[in-house]
Amino acid sequence: MPGARHHYILVVLDSCRYDSLIAARPKTLPKLGRIERRWSYASWTAPSHFNLLMGLMPHTSPRHVFASDSYQREFLKFNERLGSDGLSFGSFLPGLYLPPLLRTLGYTTHAMVSMPVLNPATVLNHGFDSFELMERHNDMRAMLPRLKFDDGRRGFYLLNTGETHYPYALPSEPADQWPRISGVHGVFKHLDEHVVGGKLPRRRRQQFQPAKLRELRGRQIDAVRYLDTVLEELFDLVPRDTYITVTSDHGELFGEDGYFGHGPIQHEKVLEVPFVEGKLR
Ligand SMILES: [Zn+2]
Repeated sequence: MPGARHHYILVVLDSCRYDSLIAARPKTLPKLGRIERRWSYASWTAPSHFNLLMGLMPHTSPRHVFASDSYQREFLKFNERLGSDGLSFGSFLPGLYLPPLLRTLGYTTHAMVSMPVLNPATVLNHGFDSFELMERHNDMRAMLPRLKFDDGRRGFYLLNTGETHYPYALPSEPADQWPRISGVHGVFKHLDEHVVGGKLPRRRRQQFQPAKLRELRGRQIDAVRYLDTVLEELFDLVPRDTYITVTSDHGELFGEDGYFGHGPIQHEKVLEVPFVEGKLR
Protein backbone atom coordinates (compact mmCIF):
# COMPACT_ATOMS: atom_id res chain seq x y z
CA MET A 1 0.00 0.00 0.00
CA PRO A 2 1.43 3.41 -0.94
CA GLY A 3 2.61 5.47 2.02
CA ALA A 4 1.42 8.98 2.71
CA ARG A 5 3.46 11.69 4.35
CA HIS A 6 1.01 14.58 4.69
CA HIS A 7 -1.81 15.43 7.00
CA TYR A 8 -4.73 16.55 4.84
CA ILE A 9 -7.35 19.18 5.66
CA LEU A 10 -10.32 19.93 3.41
CA VAL A 11 -11.96 23.24 4.34
CA VAL A 12 -15.39 23.95 2.87
CA LEU A 13 -16.63 27.53 3.20
CA ASP A 14 -20.31 26.76 2.82
CA SER A 15 -22.11 28.74 0.08
CA CYS A 16 -19.12 30.96 -0.63
CA ARG A 17 -19.29 32.34 -4.11
CA TYR A 18 -16.04 32.81 -6.02
CA ASP A 19 -16.49 36.53 -6.60
CA SER A 20 -17.35 37.13 -2.92
CA LEU A 21 -14.07 35.56 -1.93
CA ILE A 22 -12.12 37.61 -4.47
CA ALA A 23 -13.88 40.83 -3.40
CA ALA A 24 -12.75 40.16 0.18
CA ARG A 25 -9.09 40.28 -0.94
CA PRO A 26 -7.92 37.60 1.51
CA LYS A 27 -4.33 37.98 2.66
CA THR A 28 -3.73 34.55 4.22
CA LEU A 29 -5.46 32.28 1.74
CA PRO A 30 -3.04 32.95 -1.17
CA LYS A 31 -0.27 31.40 0.96
CA LEU A 32 -1.66 28.04 -0.20
CA GLY A 33 -1.44 28.88 -3.89
CA ARG A 34 -3.31 30.63 -6.66
CA ILE A 35 -7.02 31.09 -6.00
CA GLU A 36 -8.89 29.51 -8.89
CA ARG A 37 -12.44 29.93 -10.13
CA ARG A 38 -13.92 26.47 -10.38
CA TRP A 39 -17.31 24.80 -10.68
CA SER A 40 -19.12 22.67 -8.16
CA TYR A 41 -20.70 19.43 -9.36
CA ALA A 42 -23.85 20.22 -7.37
CA SER A 43 -25.91 23.25 -6.40
CA TRP A 44 -26.43 22.37 -2.76
CA THR A 45 -24.71 21.08 0.33
CA ALA A 46 -25.35 17.32 0.64
CA PRO A 47 -24.59 16.09 -2.91
CA SER A 48 -21.69 18.49 -3.15
CA HIS A 49 -20.09 17.11 0.01
CA PHE A 50 -20.64 13.56 -1.20
CA ASN A 51 -18.74 14.50 -4.34
CA LEU A 52 -15.91 16.10 -2.37
CA LEU A 53 -15.66 13.03 -0.14
CA MET A 54 -15.46 10.84 -3.25
CA GLY A 55 -12.28 12.76 -3.94
CA LEU A 56 -13.70 14.84 -6.75
CA MET A 57 -12.94 18.50 -6.11
CA PRO A 58 -14.78 21.30 -7.95
CA HIS A 59 -13.87 21.05 -11.64
CA THR A 60 -12.35 23.44 -14.17
CA SER A 61 -14.91 22.67 -16.89
CA PRO A 62 -12.18 21.58 -19.31
CA ARG A 63 -13.03 21.47 -23.02
CA HIS A 64 -12.06 18.78 -25.54
CA VAL A 65 -11.48 16.05 -22.93
CA PHE A 66 -13.47 13.03 -21.85
CA ALA A 67 -14.90 13.12 -18.32
CA SER A 68 -13.00 9.91 -17.47
CA ASP A 69 -9.66 11.66 -18.19
CA SER A 70 -10.69 14.48 -15.92
CA TYR A 71 -11.65 12.13 -13.07
CA GLN A 72 -8.41 10.20 -13.45
CA ARG A 73 -6.35 13.37 -13.20
CA GLU A 74 -8.30 14.38 -10.11
CA PHE A 75 -7.75 11.05 -8.35
CA LEU A 76 -4.02 11.11 -9.20
CA LYS A 77 -3.80 14.56 -7.64
CA PHE A 78 -4.17 12.80 -4.28
CA ASN A 79 -0.56 11.69 -4.59
CA GLU A 80 0.39 15.36 -4.25
CA ARG A 81 -2.21 16.06 -1.56
CA LEU A 82 -1.23 13.11 0.61
CA GLY A 83 2.49 13.08 -0.18
CA SER A 84 2.21 9.63 -1.74
CA ASP A 85 3.40 8.23 -5.05
CA GLY A 86 1.50 5.00 -5.40
CA LEU A 87 -2.14 6.07 -5.59
CA SER A 88 -4.07 5.49 -8.77
CA PHE A 89 -7.74 5.42 -9.74
CA GLY A 90 -7.74 1.74 -8.75
CA SER A 91 -6.87 2.71 -5.16
CA PHE A 92 -10.28 4.40 -4.89
CA LEU A 93 -12.17 1.26 -6.01
CA PRO A 94 -14.58 -0.18 -5.25
CA GLY A 95 -15.87 2.20 -2.57
CA LEU A 96 -15.06 5.49 -4.32
CA TYR A 97 -15.04 7.24 -0.96
CA LEU A 98 -12.11 9.04 0.56
CA PRO A 99 -12.41 8.41 4.33
CA PRO A 100 -12.22 4.56 4.18
CA LEU A 101 -9.37 4.80 1.67
CA LEU A 102 -7.49 7.17 3.96
CA ARG A 103 -8.02 4.76 6.83
CA THR A 104 -6.39 1.97 4.87
CA LEU A 105 -3.46 4.34 4.33
CA GLY A 106 -3.16 4.70 8.12
CA TYR A 107 -4.98 8.00 8.58
CA THR A 108 -7.29 8.95 11.40
CA THR A 109 -10.39 10.50 9.79
CA HIS A 110 -12.45 13.31 11.26
CA ALA A 111 -15.24 15.64 10.22
CA MET A 112 -16.46 18.80 11.91
CA VAL A 113 -19.49 20.12 10.08
CA SER A 114 -21.69 23.16 10.63
CA MET A 115 -24.72 22.48 8.45
CA PRO A 116 -27.40 20.23 10.02
CA VAL A 117 -28.05 18.63 6.61
CA LEU A 118 -24.59 17.03 6.98
CA ASN A 119 -25.29 15.67 10.47
CA PRO A 120 -23.57 12.46 11.69
CA ALA A 121 -26.68 10.29 10.99
CA THR A 122 -26.35 10.90 7.23
CA VAL A 123 -24.65 8.48 4.84
CA LEU A 124 -21.79 10.94 4.48
CA ASN A 125 -20.53 9.64 7.83
CA HIS A 126 -18.88 6.54 6.40
CA GLY A 127 -15.30 5.66 7.19
CA PHE A 128 -14.88 8.47 9.74
CA ASP A 129 -13.35 7.91 13.17
CA SER A 130 -15.24 10.96 14.41
CA PHE A 131 -17.97 13.05 12.81
CA GLU A 132 -19.34 16.00 14.70
CA LEU A 133 -22.05 18.58 14.03
CA MET A 134 -20.80 21.78 15.60
CA GLU A 135 -22.93 23.50 18.20
CA ARG A 136 -23.10 26.69 16.14
CA HIS A 137 -23.40 26.88 12.37
CA ASN A 138 -20.93 29.75 12.06
CA ASP A 139 -17.90 29.24 14.27
CA MET A 140 -14.89 27.82 12.47
CA ARG A 141 -12.60 29.14 15.20
CA ALA A 142 -14.23 26.70 17.66
CA MET A 143 -12.92 23.83 15.49
CA LEU A 144 -9.28 24.76 15.85
CA PRO A 145 -8.61 23.52 19.41
CA ARG A 146 -10.17 20.17 18.45
CA LEU A 147 -7.62 19.43 15.73
CA LYS A 148 -5.19 16.79 16.99
CA PHE A 149 -1.99 15.84 15.25
CA ASP A 150 0.00 14.37 18.07
CA ASP A 151 -0.46 10.58 17.98
CA GLY A 152 2.14 9.92 15.29
CA ARG A 153 -0.48 9.04 12.68
CA ARG A 154 -1.50 11.09 9.65
CA GLY A 155 -4.78 12.94 10.09
CA PHE A 156 -7.57 13.85 7.69
CA TYR A 157 -10.04 16.57 8.64
CA LEU A 158 -13.13 17.77 6.78
CA LEU A 159 -14.03 21.20 8.15
CA ASN A 160 -17.36 22.56 6.90
CA THR A 161 -18.04 26.07 8.15
CA GLY A 162 -21.06 28.31 7.78
CA GLU A 163 -20.05 31.94 8.34
CA THR A 164 -20.45 32.35 4.56
CA HIS A 165 -23.86 30.64 4.59
CA TYR A 166 -27.07 32.67 4.97
CA PRO A 167 -27.48 34.82 7.12
CA TYR A 168 -23.70 35.43 6.68
CA ALA A 169 -23.25 36.06 10.40
CA LEU A 170 -20.03 36.10 12.38
CA PRO A 171 -19.99 34.26 15.71
CA SER A 172 -19.70 37.57 17.56
CA GLU A 173 -22.98 38.89 16.14
CA PRO A 174 -26.04 38.25 18.34
CA ALA A 175 -28.66 36.14 16.56
CA ASP A 176 -31.36 38.75 17.14
CA GLN A 177 -29.40 41.14 14.94
CA TRP A 178 -29.08 38.77 11.98
CA PRO A 179 -30.92 39.83 8.83
CA ARG A 180 -34.09 37.87 8.29
CA ILE A 181 -35.78 36.89 5.08
CA SER A 182 -39.10 35.28 5.82
CA GLY A 183 -39.32 31.69 4.58
CA VAL A 184 -35.55 31.14 4.48
CA HIS A 185 -34.75 30.55 8.14
CA GLY A 186 -34.64 26.96 9.39
CA VAL A 187 -35.96 25.65 6.09
CA PHE A 188 -35.63 21.94 6.84
CA LYS A 189 -36.79 22.22 10.43
CA HIS A 190 -40.03 23.93 9.46
CA LEU A 191 -40.87 22.19 6.18
CA ASP A 192 -43.90 20.38 7.57
CA GLU A 193 -45.41 23.53 9.03
CA HIS A 194 -46.40 24.70 5.55
CA VAL A 195 -48.37 21.55 4.73
CA VAL A 196 -52.15 21.91 4.85
CA GLY A 197 -54.29 18.75 4.43
CA GLY A 198 -51.32 16.84 3.00
CA LYS A 199 -50.71 19.50 0.36
CA LEU A 200 -48.65 22.63 0.04
CA PRO A 201 -50.39 25.92 -0.69
CA ARG A 202 -49.61 27.57 -4.04
CA ARG A 203 -46.03 28.73 -4.26
CA ARG A 204 -45.63 32.37 -3.33
CA ARG A 205 -43.82 34.65 -5.73
CA GLN A 206 -41.13 36.49 -3.80
CA GLN A 207 -40.22 40.09 -4.43
CA PHE A 208 -36.56 40.45 -3.57
CA GLN A 209 -35.40 43.90 -2.57
CA PRO A 210 -32.19 44.91 -4.38
CA ALA A 211 -30.84 46.96 -1.45
CA LYS A 212 -31.36 44.04 0.94
CA LEU A 213 -29.61 41.63 -1.41
CA ARG A 214 -26.66 44.01 -1.83
CA GLU A 215 -26.39 44.11 1.95
CA LEU A 216 -26.45 40.31 2.13
CA ARG A 217 -23.71 39.98 -0.48
CA GLY A 218 -21.66 42.50 1.49
CA ARG A 219 -22.12 40.35 4.56
CA GLN A 220 -20.80 37.28 2.75
CA ILE A 221 -17.73 39.27 1.68
CA ASP A 222 -17.21 40.42 5.29
CA ALA A 223 -17.52 36.78 6.42
CA VAL A 224 -14.69 35.80 4.06
CA ARG A 225 -12.53 38.62 5.42
CA TYR A 226 -13.13 37.31 8.92
CA LEU A 227 -12.52 33.67 7.94
CA ASP A 228 -9.19 34.68 6.44
CA THR A 229 -8.05 35.56 9.99
CA VAL A 230 -9.27 32.17 11.27
CA LEU A 231 -7.37 30.47 8.44
CA GLU A 232 -4.26 32.34 9.55
CA GLU A 233 -4.67 30.73 12.99
CA LEU A 234 -5.23 27.34 11.35
CA PHE A 235 -2.08 27.70 9.25
CA ASP A 236 -0.11 28.61 12.37
CA LEU A 237 -1.16 25.54 14.31
CA VAL A 238 -0.94 22.70 11.77
CA PRO A 239 2.28 20.69 11.38
CA ARG A 240 4.53 21.68 8.48
CA ASP A 241 3.76 18.56 6.48
CA THR A 242 0.07 19.43 6.10
CA TYR A 243 -1.66 19.85 2.77
CA ILE A 244 -4.76 22.04 2.78
CA THR A 245 -7.57 22.48 0.26
CA VAL A 246 -9.97 25.41 0.69
CA THR A 247 -13.08 25.53 -1.46
CA SER A 248 -16.85 25.84 -1.30
CA ASP A 249 -19.64 23.35 -1.83
CA HIS A 250 -21.67 25.66 -4.12
CA GLY A 251 -22.18 29.33 -4.82
CA GLU A 252 -25.03 31.63 -3.90
CA LEU A 253 -27.45 33.90 -5.75
CA PHE A 254 -28.05 37.43 -4.58
CA GLY A 255 -31.00 38.38 -6.78
CA GLU A 256 -29.42 37.71 -10.19
CA ASP A 257 -32.17 36.74 -12.68
CA GLY A 258 -34.69 36.51 -9.86
CA TYR A 259 -32.87 33.95 -7.72
CA PHE A 260 -31.80 33.98 -4.09
CA GLY A 261 -29.71 31.40 -2.27
CA HIS A 262 -28.81 28.00 -3.66
CA GLY A 263 -30.34 24.53 -4.16
CA PRO A 264 -33.13 24.26 -6.77
CA ILE A 265 -31.48 26.84 -9.01
CA GLN A 266 -29.96 26.43 -12.45
CA HIS A 267 -27.62 29.40 -12.77
CA GLU A 268 -23.92 29.91 -13.32
CA LYS A 269 -23.46 31.67 -9.99
CA VAL A 270 -24.78 28.73 -7.95
CA LEU A 271 -21.96 26.55 -9.27
CA GLU A 272 -19.14 29.11 -9.26
CA VAL A 273 -16.79 28.44 -6.34
CA PRO A 274 -13.28 29.38 -5.21
CA PHE A 275 -10.58 26.73 -5.06
CA VAL A 276 -7.08 26.93 -3.65
CA GLU A 277 -4.80 24.28 -2.27
CA GLY A 278 -1.24 23.56 -1.36
CA LYS A 279 1.26 22.80 1.33
CA LEU A 280 2.36 25.47 3.76
CA ARG A 281 6.04 26.33 3.53
ZN1 LIG B 1 -23.79 24.30 1.35
